[in-house]
Order: sequence, then C-alpha cells, then structure tokens
Amino acid sequence: MGNRFQVQDRYADGAQYIGGRLRPGTSGRTQDIVNPATGETVHSYELAGTADVDAAVDAAREAFPGWAGATPGERSDALHSFASVLAGQAADFAHAESLQCGKPIKLTTEFDVPGTVDNTAFFAGAARHLQGQSAGEYSGDHTSYVRREAIGVVGSIAPWNYPLQMAAWKVLPAIAAGNTIVLKPAEITPLTSLMFAEAAKEAGLPDGVINIVNGAGRDAGERLVGHPDVAMTSFTGSTPVGKRVAEIATATVKRLHLELGGKAPFVVFDDADLEAAVNGAVAGSLINSGQDCTAATRAYVQRPLYDAFVSGVADLMATVRLGDPFDPSTDLGPLISHLQRDRVAGFVDRARSYATVVTGGEAPQGELVKGAYYRPTLVAGAAQDSEIVQSEIFGPVLVVLPFDSDDEGIALANDTPYGLAASAWSRDVFRANRATREIKAGCVWINDHIPIISEMPHGGYKASGFGKDMSVYSFEEYTQVKHVMYDNTATVRKDWHRTIFGDRP
Ligand code: NAD
Repeated sequence: MGNRFQVQDRYADGAQYIGGRLRPGTSGRTQDIVNPATGETVHSYELAGTADVDAAVDAAREAFPGWAGATPGERSDALHSFASVLAGQAADFAHAESLQCGKPIKLTTEFDVPGTVDNTAFFAGAARHLQGQSAGEYSGDHTSYVRREAIGVVGSIAPWNYPLQMAAWKVLPAIAAGNTIVLKPAEITPLTSLMFAEAAKEAGLPDGVINIVNGAGRDAGERLVGHPDVAMTSFTGSTPVGKRVAEIATATVKRLHLELGGKAPFVVFDDADLEAAVNGAVAGSLINSGQDCTAATRAYVQRPLYDAFVSGVADLMATVRLGDPFDPSTDLGPLISHLQRDRVAGFVDRARSYATVVTGGEAPQGELVKGAYYRPTLVAGAAQDSEIVQSEIFGPVLVVLPFDSDDEGIALANDTPYGLAASAWSRDVFRANRATREIKAGCVWINDHIPIISEMPHGGYKASGFGKDMSVYSFEEYTQVKHVMYDNTATVRKDWHRTIFGDRP
C-alpha cells in the first residue's frame, strides 16, 4: 500500500471490525470522515447501531475463554509480534492519523505512532508480571494467596484528540491481562483504531479479542456501557459525558474507569529559568493544537517574571508556523473540526469583554482559510473565576495570570474542578518539591510539561476522573483480585467455631 493511505478502498466493506472482519454498520446513518485541514470528505461510512454493538460483544464474549486461558507468555508473544507489525506500518499510521485529525506529520511520526509501538512493547513485557501479595500463612491456620484474574468483556469509549494512542491505552492493558474488548472510538476519527485492530490480527491475535464499533455516543456508546455482558466500562472523554457514562454503568453495577477533562496549571516561580518556562509554555499549550487533556492552559507567573513571561510567550507564539499537516515544516495544524474551532473562538471572543487578547484570537486567512485553523492565542488579565480560566477550551489558547506569594500560586493552581496534570517551574528544590506535594493532580512535572512514558501512570484527580492508563497501575483497573484460602489444620472443629458452638465437644 506504500505510504499513501487509501481509505476508500480499504474500508469499502464497512468500518465496523467485529470478530476479525470488516462489515458495514446497521444504524441506517452515515458519517463523513473530514480532513480538517481542507474541509474535504475523505470517506463516508455507515455508523454502528445497537445491533452492531451486541454483535461485537458476542464476538468478544466468545473469544474470552480462549484468550483468558492463554498463558501470560503466550499473550506476551502475541503482543511482541503486534508491536513489530505496528512498527512496520508506522508511516501508514502516521499518514492516516494526520489525515483524519489534521495533526502535523512530525507530531504523528515522532509522538503518536512511536508512543503506541512502545506502549504495545511495554504491555508485552508487563503481561508476564502481574503483581500481588505473596502467598503466606497470615492467619496461622491457613495458606492464603491472591489470584489476579481477567474481568471479561471490556467496553471502552475513546475521544478524537489522540485516536491511535487512546485505542492503545484502552486496548493494551485490557488484553494483556486476558480480557477481550469492544472499543468505540470517536465516530469522526475511526481510521487508526480500525488499523490497530487489523494489525493485531496480522500479528496473530485471535479474532474477537479486539473489536471496533464506530458509532455515535448516544446509541452505540450508551448500549456498550449498559450492555449486560460487558463487565467493565473504560471511558476517556469530556467530564459531562463521563457523568452520563457513570450513571449508566452504575445502574448495571459495572467496574468503571474514567479519564476525563483537564485544565492544567503551569506555575512559574520567580527563581525559574524564564527562557525555559517561556518555551515550555508555548510548546505545552500548543501541542496537538491545544487539544490535549494535559496541555498547559493556565499559566500562573510570580509577579517579578510576569511581564517578561507575557512578552516572551507572545513573541514565541508568533513564530509558530501554521500550515499543511503533511508539510514536515508545519508546527501547528488545524483543530479537529470547524465546529471545534468555532467553539474555541467563542471562548476567546467572550473573554474580550473582561480580558486582553495579547496575541492570536483569530483564524488565519489566505490559503488556510478552508481549514479549521486558529492562531496561537495568549489571553491576559482575566479573573480567576472567569469562564476562560475555569472551563476546558481544548484549543491553542493559554491564559496567563500573576501571583505574589508561593501560597497563592499553589492555591490558584488548585482552584478549578479538574486535576489531571500540572507543572511547576523553579530552580529551588524545596519549592518544587512543595508543588509536587500540594498540587492536586494525577501528574506534576517539574521544569517541563507534557512528556508521558509507558512505565508511568496517567490519570486524574477530582473531576478529571479516576483510574490509571499505561504502566502496571492500569492492571488495577483491568483485573479483579481473588483471595484464595486453604485450611491447614485438617480438623473438623476449627478454632473459630467456638463463636458458634462454645466449648461443647
Ligand atoms: P466527548 O466526551 O464528547 O466524547 C468522547 C467519546 O464519548 C466519543 O467516542 C463519543 O462518541 C462518546 N460519547 C458521547 N456521548 C456519549 C454517551 N451519551 N454515552 C456514551 N458515549 C458517548 O469527548 P471528545 O470531545 O471526543 O474529546 C475531548 C475530551 O476528552 C476533552 O474533555 C479531553 O480532556 C478528554 N480527554 C481526556 C483524556 C484523559 O486521559 N483524561 C485524554 C484525552 C481526552
């Protein structure tokens, strides 16, 4: 197939991957896949309906006993092969991800795809290292041990901002632990999740272990969450939809893992390396056009550095090159859709009445006018309780506010409902260490913002959800722990029976 990804040919038979083969959806509705850099439709497909979800759950249920019964070594071997197949198709994956999301090709080539290959290789190793307490005679009269068991069919729902990485984060820990899965990607970005599942088949994973249903949230999504044969729901997306998912999952008493929205603070103390902080703020707020749940969104800068930080960030943002995602020199692509671009512009336009737009705040004209582009934007002078400081914008927009004392900086950083990620910038080890202790977020970076790594957990505090993706911590979500206890006394009357029989013989 070469480097050019031929979507229409490849998905002519449909965009639902169930039991190891592609088929059309039966909802009766079609969905366009649009290249947001041009507004052109790349492909149209039939969305999954509830019957397709049921078929995918059946396929996953059928595959479960065989896959759960494989040895950890067998699952590990399959995942190692999977990582090799993915690595061999890296260029196709990067191309498809850039096409459906508008991400610059250097981002998909250097971040999305190698991150996914590394995650797959990590879970190939981790599959052989499920942890638990050691067996022992804890009561004195029994031997106790722990079994860490697969849960069954996992139903996962993913967002559009990193479709390939989200598919990997959902699928890999689930199947490494012996579960089977039905994944519902965001319906506007189905391509790389399908390719991921197809690559798994090529690597030898059995049919039915990974199933992909591309459908809308309100029917296919809700059916997947409420399905009686789905043992666990794992959801990544916005906090409002996460609340709806939690209601449905709770009604069916499911295991639940929620990775929700973020509004990451970026706290610059007055002893920080100013140039490093300026560079970090621009890169950390603009990655993936700001459509990143951990992106730097609120910069709090201690008063002595404030003015220099604002002008430094504005100057550097103006050098960022917007352009064709497939041009290797492009730094910033469009947003995911014109709808999302208009949503982002709405936040900035409303902020003009109470804050200052220092740079950006508009869509570029000229040859980019057809795409969903928005210029890198810096907003200053907004109050802490204003919409632009409190709400998740999910676009290339950074808000900057000053603070005086360290206490104030940390209090402001904690003052939103979210708690996914944060960074603190200082050369003072005590200040930095205090920030790591007191900022309430699932990840705190010191003197950097954004990097993730397969070995380390990713997940939120507060309204950003609960549970961890990546790392061995994800097995806490995707396995259930059973205590097994053997009597060692071989007696009829156990010691504790006295509570029933007293001292009677
Ligand atoms: P979204 O919540 O609108 O949609 C996410 C997924 O949920 C999609 O697949 C959608 O089809 C589905 N969905 C929608 N309504 C549903 C319903 N009623 N029942 C079941 N499923 C439903 O989010 P989005 O706009 O696709 O993605 C952006 C959001 O995702 C942001 O809030 C971002 O912070 C969050 N996000 C979080 C993380 C994390 O790790 N915490 C990672 C990436 C993105």
